[in-house]
Amino acid sequence: TDRERRVLDAVHTGVFAAGNWRPAASGRTFEVVDPATELPLIAVADGGPTDAGAAFDAACAAQPDWAATAPRERAEILRRAFDGLVARTEELALLITLEMGKPLAQSRGEVAYAAEFLRWFSEQAAHIGGTYRPAPAGAQRLITHRQPVGPCLLITPWNFPLAMGTRKVGAAIAAGCTMVLKPAELTPLASFFLAEVLSEAGLPSGVLNVVTSSDAAALVAPILADSRLRKVSFTGSTEVGKILLRQAADTILRASMELGGNAPLIVFDDANLDDAVEGTMVAKMRNMGQSCVAANRLLVHESIAEEYVERLAERMAALRVGRGTEDGIEVGPLIDEKQRQKVAGLVQDAVTCGARPVTGGLMPGDRGYFYSPTVLVDVPATARIAQEEVFGPVAAITTFRGEDEALTLANQTRFGLVGYVFSRDISRAFRVAEALETGMVGINEGLVSNPAGPFGGVKQSGLGREGGDEGIEEYLSTKYMALALQ
Ligand code: ADP
Repeated sequence: TDRERRVLDAVHTGVFAAGNWRPAASGRTFEVVDPATELPLIAVADGGPTDAGAAFDAACAAQPDWAATAPRERAEILRRAFDGLVARTEELALLITLEMGKPLAQSRGEVAYAAEFLRWFSEQAAHIGGTYRPAPAGAQRLITHRQPVGPCLLITPWNFPLAMGTRKVGAAIAAGCTMVLKPAELTPLASFFLAEVLSEAGLPSGVLNVVTSSDAAALVAPILADSRLRKVSFTGSTEVGKILLRQAADTILRASMELGGNAPLIVFDDANLDDAVEGTMVAKMRNMGQSCVAANRLLVHESIAEEYVERLAERMAALRVGRGTEDGIEVGPLIDEKQRQKVAGLVQDAVTCGARPVTGGLMPGDRGYFYSPTVLVDVPATARIAQEEVFGPVAAITTFRGEDEALTLANQTRFGLVGYVFSRDISRAFRVAEALETGMVGINEGLVSNPAGPFGGVKQSGLGREGGDEGIEEYLSTKYMALALQ
């Protein structure tokens, strides 16, 4: 439509370095595709090592002045950028829907969520503290002082094109770090928009630099190898996280890794079933299931399984699937054909292993990477869908008999990002929450994401936390000074 074209034409598409937009040094571009139509939307700069070098040099050059900027000033820039994002919600939500596919209502939700990170970190920026304490033996004073770690490389995924950016960028800005942001090649547009809003909010040139590429590994390799880089923060697959950690070892980089999940969602027989079904819909279907905190394994007490499945299947079957720009659509396409084939393959494998499909399992339409909301019951723990991150609209249900069995099943995974517990028994809910081997737990709640909460995982789900009081810590290092007091 005309409006879509206007919004696309207004967005920058180049390499953003030292405050300037320019084409890739090679002159090359690559296409961003609308997953609902499979048609190209716009061509963006296909950056290479030269562009990465320019972006990173700009970050390094800007670091000393930026670190010396008053915390209050950093806070004000973030706060203005928060207002800027909120004011431009409609344009930005449309861009997110176009490049990523989620329905407009969810894109608006992402803009609000993403903006909140900037507000949260603006509030954090002026609250970076230190300590002063007498040594146990008396004569010395021990002082701690917090300093920005230095230039950062931030690598983000395609599932929340804006929010995964703001939660890194906001923290880095608040802490006084400069950065190169490398968004996912499937969804670079929201990051370009973010760079523009931050510039308008007064962020000095070189503090944030953005470079996109069709070859992420080649683009970031020279930055990772550069001894001036002090930190890498990554959100994406565990496999790529491992590659980056190996590369980070060479220069002993600080690393924050927000990796894959395989979230269990446990419904006990004493749960409020309305809340459990509602919570499941949120935990399962937000972003069409393409979220690292998506409920991956639904573990339901056998005595309530029949009713739970019936209600859930009814809700899932009623969801309206279509292009996210259209009114009333609740489920958009998956990000690409590869992802759709992966989801279809996991469903096929589960059925082969003995799972029973209750609804869904279809690929509707002849255009767009759509997959219908699906419910599978009797999913054995050996099925691949119980072990791998689905990243799709498939509810895989397994029943259990007792609390111990539920916990054993829940913890039977190399991942440990989040778990969900539904129970009205407060002791049980907390007992299970404490015993889950995860970094986060939703208790009678399907949505844990909140800028004021520390987001992150244990086991192979990652290192470090984003948001909460912890988020800014990832971008600070502690200097300890010993003072002889005479
Ligand atoms: P997803 O499963 O979300 O597609 P990926 O881990 O493949 O996750 O991608 C997340 C981000 O990591 C994207 O920005 C992608 O371009 C980037 N990426 C992928 N492979 C590499 C790599 N070898 N080195 C650095 N970044 C990479």
